[in-house]
Amino acid sequence: MIANADALRELHRIHKQLADLTTELARGPKTILAHGKKTDILQAAADDAEAETRNVRMFVDDKNLQLKIREGRIADLRAKLNACSTNKEYQALQEQIAADAMACSVLEDEILEALEKVEERQAAVVRAKKSLAAGQAELGKVTESVNQREGVVKGELKRIEAQLATAEDALPADFKADYQRIVQIKGEDAMAVLDGESCGGCYQRLTINMVSELLMSRVVTCQGCGRMIYPPEDRSIGSRPRD
Ligand SMILES: [Zn+2]
Repeated sequence: MIANADALRELHRIHKQLADLTTELARGPKTILAHGKKTDILQAAADDAEAETRNVRMFVDDKNLQLKIREGRIADLRAKLNACSTNKEYQALQEQIAADAMACSVLEDEILEALEKVEERQAAVVRAKKSLAAGQAELGKVTESVNQREGVVKGELKRIEAQLATAEDALPADFKADYQRIVQIKGEDAMAVLDGESCGGCYQRLTINMVSELLMSRVVTCQGCGRMIYPPEDRSIGSRPRD
């Protein structure tokens, strides 16, 4: 395969640049998505914290209602005490009042304990909302920066694609067909610079004939990986001693 080594070197540079830009372009939305997922998790944590607070509050409301009912019953029983006709009846009412008072005391303890939990849960809600706000702010910043960079990268891609078209147009027709076939399959890995006396892509050692071809600025194809090999710019072929 005869072709200008400089042209191939230039084409490889362009293909590598295109691959880098394409990778960067694809990475942007993934970065946004990852931050979005993180924000979703923070939102769920904030929602959970609020739901827990609501549950404890409902528990307190329920216990308060029970307390009111018991207290009302104690008041009724006390009123009945005056109307008692027998000592036995009086005694029974007193026992009921004592039992209800005990139940009220238990309810009051439960309410106090639950109110402490409400405070804890409210603090957790504040913390969760703060984390969420930080996550949302970060997502906004990342999105903005990715979008800005996307514009720059797209412009750069256009510029490099134009460079590629120009460089490819200049290729000799007989070489162009081979080049395009390999590039279509391997992309930026269609080419490799000579590394010492080996393929710079797969590091397979080249034959002496291949190195001679390269010395004459001809392009050779690596038998190991199929890359088109071109000599380095300084032509320092064989700078590595053969073993
Ligand atoms: Zn190779």
